[in-house]
Amino acid sequence: MDNYSINTKCVQAGYRPGNGEPRQIPIVQSTTFKYDTSEDMGKLFDLEASGYFYTRLQNPTNDYVAAKIAALEGGKAAMLTSSGQAANFFALFNICECGSHIVASSSIYGGTFNLISVTMAKMGIEVTFVSPTASEEELNAAFKENTRAMFGETIANPALTVLDIEKFAKVAHAHGVPLIVDNTFPTPVNCRPIEWGADIVTHSTTKYMDGHGAAVGGCIVDSGNFDWMAHAEKFPGLCTPDESYHGITYAEKFGKEGAFITKCTSQLMRDFGCIQSPQHAFILNLGLESLHVRMPRHVENGQAVAEYLEKHPKITKVNYSGLPSDPYYSVAQKYLPNGGCGVVSFEIEGGRAAAEKFMKALKLAAIETHVADARTCCLNPATSTHRQMSEEQLIEAGVPAGLVRMSCGLEDKADLIADLEQALAQV
Ligand SMILES: *Cc1c(COP(=O)(O)O)cnc(C)c1O
Repeated sequence: MDNYSINTKCVQAGYRPGNGEPRQIPIVQSTTFKYDTSEDMGKLFDLEASGYFYTRLQNPTNDYVAAKIAALEGGKAAMLTSSGQAANFFALFNICECGSHIVASSSIYGGTFNLISVTMAKMGIEVTFVSPTASEEELNAAFKENTRAMFGETIANPALTVLDIEKFAKVAHAHGVPLIVDNTFPTPVNCRPIEWGADIVTHSTTKYMDGHGAAVGGCIVDSGNFDWMAHAEKFPGLCTPDESYHGITYAEKFGKEGAFITKCTSQLMRDFGCIQSPQHAFILNLGLESLHVRMPRHVENGQAVAEYLEKHPKITKVNYSGLPSDPYYSVAQKYLPNGGCGVVSFEIEGGRAAAEKFMKALKLAAIETHVADARTCCLNPATSTHRQMSEEQLIEAGVPAGLVRMSCGLEDKADLIADLEQALAQV
């Protein structure tokens, strides 16, 4: 499939049925797999042969879909996880351990921020947060001798900042560590971070990839570019024998292209079991088949809504990297030439009370803790996800009381704008 356009890969990559086999990806609804001899099965346990033995670790349906996402991102290997949270945790924990340190952009999803700064801290893994707009010198200064990974989001949820991937990759590589990029919001249709130097790409497939608000899931893609053995002292888990797998050294046996995902599957998936169900993988694949058709419409609607709001007298600020007035416009022109996504955020004059009134008046856009769905939805962080915070804390967190995050769906943009117009008229 390598020579085909990403549009064709969305439809057909990953699964190529043989003569007389099902056209659609089969859902392998089986926890286990049968073998003729114990010797056959033993080879799987020793990672001497590839094959399936238990769905807590691997399932063929998932692997077809993971292979499609690897093809879309231009990666060499991939795996599905039960959620985006599990994908980011596994991507980091596969190369970090107690005593390790992570450099992460401060502008990331709240769940990931909490995962790294609270839960992984309890495991003895430290983090230094850096601004997504930090200079090379500032980024360099955040690194320590025990830094094992750098992390950021292509378009951050919900701040909508855009990551300078090339700059972050350059700094990460100068310190001998990989750059992990969460590419959930643009999807590979609008940005492929590996082409800009990212080593590992993660996704909450719950968002645009599924795109219908139907199935929670995640994915990890390895570019196959990072040379673990060249930095063997930093990555003992990949570069020294794994006694829990009969002394295999992943980076030696599976090379740059296979080591990361093989270790992540055979250790982390074995021990934590955060696998996506094959049913969810099937639903995810239905979403992927139309991802290249849906993303341009999400962008078109996001752009139209952002432009409309920017001109509205009751709107004091609009965040959308497709607007020339946005501070991330020029970096977005470089990494997101076809647009980013359908999520727009804006501030309404009159703060929390005005935002509440406005959202209540919306007819098409529903109030939901979700984004990247076919149906337009919106959220006022101050009265929902961030409601425990004071006015001052809200401002500090970059979510002023009047901020509304709107995820533009696939409806007609004229209907969305008419809905905004009537709702703003009531504020
Ligand atoms: C939603 C989201 C996550 C978490 O994904 P879940 O599938 O909800 O676990 C991670 N990163 C980003 C950018 C997200 O938007």
